[in-house]
Amino acid sequence: MKAAREKTDVTPPTVVSSEVARRIRQHARSNMKTEVCGVLIGSMKNGSLHIEECISGKDAAQAGTHVTFTQDTWEHIYKVKDAEFPDQRIVGWYHSHPGFGIFLSEHDTFIHRNFFSAPEQVAWVYDPHSDEEGFFGWSGERIERLGLIAVSDAHGGEECSETHNSKEQADAYEDEGPADALREPQARQSSSLRWIIAMLTHLLAIALGLLIAWYIFPRVLVVPVDPQTGKPLVELPSEISPGLAPPAPAANAPAATKPAETPPPDASRPPEEEGKGGHAQSK
Ligand SMILES: [Zn+2]
Repeated sequence: MKAAREKTDVTPPTVVSSEVARRIRQHARSNMKTEVCGVLIGSMKNGSLHIEECISGKDAAQAGTHVTFTQDTWEHIYKVKDAEFPDQRIVGWYHSHPGFGIFLSEHDTFIHRNFFSAPEQVAWVYDPHSDEEGFFGWSGERIERLGLIAVSDAHGGEECSETHNSKEQADAYEDEGPADALREPQARQSSSLRWIIAMLTHLLAIALGLLIAWYIFPRVLVVPVDPQTGKPLVELPSEISPGLAPPAPAANAPAATKPAETPPPDASRPPEEEGKGGHAQSK
């Protein structure tokens, strides 16, 4: 039977329905300790293999780390296939490797050679512990791991590599995946808008606070004073005049004039006058 195989017998480009991918993973996760198996149902379209359905293997014998399609399993599979997918073909099989990685064991290779020897038939291995998966197909006489498998969903085909982490993939496979992608920028937009509004509100509050403080609290002028003479180094009247402009004409505006005019002499004079204030002034 091996002699009949041509060197050109290679697995055609394969497209997997996202729904099938989801169901296979779900089936594998339903049993995290022992292997589960099933067959892939599909058809050839425009030179590509389309995996459109799957049938879980009932009554499969699970011995240690490998799974076996028993007579009962095949009977169940053919019964379902003839009833539900009469126009499609069995295009491969899947089984899980709970916790021991992606490869085809000797036993798996035996199953593939004996039950899935047609060129387009593939083997899908999925590890529900690590969420890894791999596809294997024919390359002439040999069974090789396939590089790229396309996943199709309601929104069209999407290529993804075999080694991706399925956590991202799970999102992509879900039908609401694209909706999520749309929703995210919107959420980001509204959060940045909220941030800007908060910033503006804070700036406004600070400006308002400064304005209120400007009117309520007495203005304190910091005037540099000559330590020798005790005289202000800056001309005071010009400094005060802008703030005092309105009450200036009235003589009875002590509140406004006092804080501005008195501090410099008060703060600097007394110690200076006791010491050498007189000398400095006389000179
Ligand atoms: Zn295996």
